[in-house]
Amino acid sequence: MRNHSATLFEEAKSYFPGGVNSPVRAFKSVGGTPLFMKEGKGAKITDVDDKEYIDFCCSWGPLILGHAHEKIVKNVGEALLKGTSFGTPTTAENKLAKLILENNPYIDKIRFVNSGTEAVMSALRLARGYTGKSKIIKFDGCYHGHVDSLLVKAGSGLADTPTATSKGIPESVVNDTIILPLDNLIVVEEAFEQFKDQIACVIIEPVPANNGLLKQRREYLLGLKYLCEKHGALLFFDEVISGFRVHFSGAAGYYDIQPDLISYGKIIGGGFPVGAYGGKKEIMAHVAPEGEIYQAGTLSGNPIAMTAGYHQLLECSKIGFYQELESRTRDFVSNINAFCEKRGYNFHLTTIASIFWCVFGKKDISRADQIDASKMPTFSKLYHNLLERGIYMGPSGYEVGFISNAHSESVLNDAAVKFKDALKATFE
Ligand code: PMP
Repeated sequence: MRNHSATLFEEAKSYFPGGVNSPVRAFKSVGGTPLFMKEGKGAKITDVDDKEYIDFCCSWGPLILGHAHEKIVKNVGEALLKGTSFGTPTTAENKLAKLILENNPYIDKIRFVNSGTEAVMSALRLARGYTGKSKIIKFDGCYHGHVDSLLVKAGSGLADTPTATSKGIPESVVNDTIILPLDNLIVVEEAFEQFKDQIACVIIEPVPANNGLLKQRREYLLGLKYLCEKHGALLFFDEVISGFRVHFSGAAGYYDIQPDLISYGKIIGGGFPVGAYGGKKEIMAHVAPEGEIYQAGTLSGNPIAMTAGYHQLLECSKIGFYQELESRTRDFVSNINAFCEKRGYNFHLTTIASIFWCVFGKKDISRADQIDASKMPTFSKLYHNLLERGIYMGPSGYEVGFISNAHSESVLNDAAVKFKDALKATFE
């Protein structure tokens, strides 16, 4: 059998650290060689050995319409002919901003940047500049991009010093981050007491989907809002995954909770590198050049990326888009779960909107420390059984799966047959 991916990966190792331009792509967690993809259409992708896969990674979330959606391809093609970048304002930025702001009541103003990390980093500066405070609360099990102050993990107790999860992060930066477990308001209240008048914001993925899918209760998120208001801190929803995924207005809309700041990425760029942050008028008024908090970008608001984002979000804004996607996802997940129940596997898929995650156990969980790490070798086995049968997912048991609008009922029925077969090969 040909294995062009393996040859290409060997070559890539001489160019890039670990052979990749983003760590999880290297397949370290599941073992084996990363697949080099050559094309995608709708719900399917094809690798360099011409093997086709139903894609549940969807570029880690951005492709909510599937690959090479005809409206995005056509409009981006036309935009390219007019020039790729000007470094001046363009109508493409206005169009995308208008579509978002008219359909998302949770932000008044928005600023486009180039990635989710940049969005979080910039909004964090805004939170600190606006409140005049330095410390931030972050939760164990939430990922917010590779921002220095957020690549931090907890010590063993609240009073313990947190530590960086990467080398190269100064202790002075780490010391301003307080790490707490999810789904526990008491520890948040205690942190506000302990670090009185020092906390600028509480940052959370309202749908934590980077370390498994750790669904949170609406009451918990409302509790965070209450505590932030009480202590003069901002509530910051990092919606890089959940934005335009669980609802057009993201998790803010899904749960109907008004945070002070929101970051976006992924879907907002229609498959191009875009991020954004937004919030209330009075907070956003502090961003340069209107205000004194600096943030800028050579390619920010790039017309090609804005065009792709606009045409993707235009489809998402159609009536019934999210209900339909959620209902198809629920059917797929229920189908798999009924099979697992019947065969007595200690496994199920958990879901919210069009996101799902493989849980090795029967109950949903809400905190990072509830994840059974000893089951990751079983995930790797399942992963390779899925690949063999033509199902592609993010190569780690901590990553979630995404269903796009191109995953029709018939694609999902086909996927379910393959998924069940892979489960059988893993558990029997
Ligand atoms: N925040 C969240 C919630 C994310 O999921 C991610 C990326 N997975 C980021 C921030 C960082 O985004 P990017 O990879 O575009 O920098």
